[in-house]
Amino acid sequence: MKRTYLIIAITVAVYVCTKCFYSNGMVAVSKELTLKDVSVVIDPGHGGLDNGASVGKIYESELNLKISFALKDELESRGAKVYMTREDEQDMTKRNHHYSKQDDMYLRVKKIDSYKSDYLMSIHLNSAPASSAWGSQVFYYKNSDKGKRLAEEIQSTMKEITGSPKRISGSSFRVLRATQTVGVLIECGFISNANERGQLQSSKYHQKLAVKICDGLENYREKYPEDTIKKEDFEKILN
Ligand SMILES: [Zn+2]
Repeated sequence: MKRTYLIIAITVAVYVCTKCFYSNGMVAVSKELTLKDVSVVIDPGHGGLDNGASVGKIYESELNLKISFALKDELESRGAKVYMTREDEQDMTKRNHHYSKQDDMYLRVKKIDSYKSDYLMSIHLNSAPASSAWGSQVFYYKNSDKGKRLAEEIQSTMKEITGSPKRISGSSFRVLRATQTVGVLIECGFISNANERGQLQSSKYHQKLAVKICDGLENYREKYPEDTIKKEDFEKILN
């Protein structure tokens, strides 16, 4: 009898260990560092006295930050170096009085280019008077071909999760216009739409968005290797 128990115990132990070994092995193998040597500045839109769009006590600035952290984790898990313009509920001036959009944007733009990163991703949520408006949308600086190509790829992978029928759009948003870094501004969905607002408050959804944004960046880099800016060229543009 005792021997039977011993054999069962050993069999169970071996099975459990084997499973652990393989599952750990799988994680290590499946996470390829596909974005190694790539650097990204994430700009969580708004912050501080500027909440961005809001519905009741649900603020765009807070959700932008949460999505940005999920994006940071996903980018880093693929080997990217990540910088953030803010990591808490403060704007760039860090003042809690006399909010100035001018000052905030001036400092934000300077901070973004100071990292000399390959890409900029400014994270926002959209809002409209009509509560029926919905859908993620990626913007690029209207004179940037690289930005446009990057936006196209991210819009396309995000669509797989958001289902958005929207198309990318060229814009003159200051954060894109005034920075030298190849960038996109991503409106992850409408905070004014009840259905999307629900999704946009879920950390699981943040992770899914992060995965799709990273997939888009990878697709862009694979499709347009000639777009990858060299550090020396970047220096020349800045000087
Ligand atoms: Zn915004």
